[in-house]
Amino acid sequence: MEELEPALYIVPTPIGNMEDITFRAVRILKEARIICAEDTRHSRPLLEQLGVTSPVLESFHDHNETEKAARVRNWIQEGKSVALISDAGTPLISDPGYHLVVDCVNAGIRVVPLPGPCAAITALEAAGFPTDRFCFEGFLPVREKALYDRLEELRHETRTMVFYETPRRMPDTAVALGRVFGDREIVVGREMTKTFETFYRTTCKKLSGILANDVNSGRGEMVAVLYPWRPDSGETAVSDEARRLLRLLVAELPVKKAARIVSETFGCSKNDVYREALALQKEEPES
Ligand code: SAM
Repeated sequence: MEELEPALYIVPTPIGNMEDITFRAVRILKEARIICAEDTRHSRPLLEQLGVTSPVLESFHDHNETEKAARVRNWIQEGKSVALISDAGTPLISDPGYHLVVDCVNAGIRVVPLPGPCAAITALEAAGFPTDRFCFEGFLPVREKALYDRLEELRHETRTMVFYETPRRMPDTAVALGRVFGDREIVVGREMTKTFETFYRTTCKKLSGILANDVNSGRGEMVAVLYPWRPDSGETAVSDEARRLLRLLVAELPVKKAARIVSETFGCSKNDVYREALALQKEEPES
């Protein structure tokens, strides 16, 4: 077998369907002297299935990445070729590898990226939303306040947005998406490329109920694709329910206080509620 040039090879692997691997990826995995894998127990059966029989498999994951990057760099500097794979899809995309690539680039080591499966791009292909401009948002924050803050930041994002989510966290995320984005369209791809591939095409407001009604929605990995904000969409940032409470509070309290209570109660943008409160205050008859 030909000796691969010493370099770091970034090799995407399937996100479910074993046929989704390129000829080049298989060749690089066969020829690399060392394969760094996120979970060696997980990757061994895949490599066996691909006929990659005698690799030196090294673990490379979130918890050892910074410390291990220097060792991997040394192996390449000693003349070894190293392939990096993750559990599924493209390494570095919500997966380890970033520090290693930075290390290699800084050391003048060649980094060879291979194109291949990526759940974000796969979902975007099927969503039917604008693809001329999109942004990848990875995993949303877990803590409630941080989650709502992030979604609020994205309220006026004019590019299609792509999020990763785990089945366990999806119910809470769906509720939050509904509160912040209301009637905005969303597509959630579950178990893509696998036997039970499903796309939920709905609005943010309905997503939570739709997932709750599907007994299978708790299984399998998911990607959510959110339609961009459009200035002419007529989307109101403050729901009717929030506006009703705001109207009552503005009559009794200082505007700022009323706006804070409502934005905290409904998880909507403080600025939007404040603007709405000022408008309501103007409507209030002078006493
Ligand atoms: N590096 C991977 C890639 O290129 O897509 C992503 C790894 S990240 C740790 C795992 C997340 O990717 C999952 O939580 C889910 O959001 C998404 N994902 C991976 N495979 C998927 C699939 N077959 N269907 C839907 N989502 C998937």
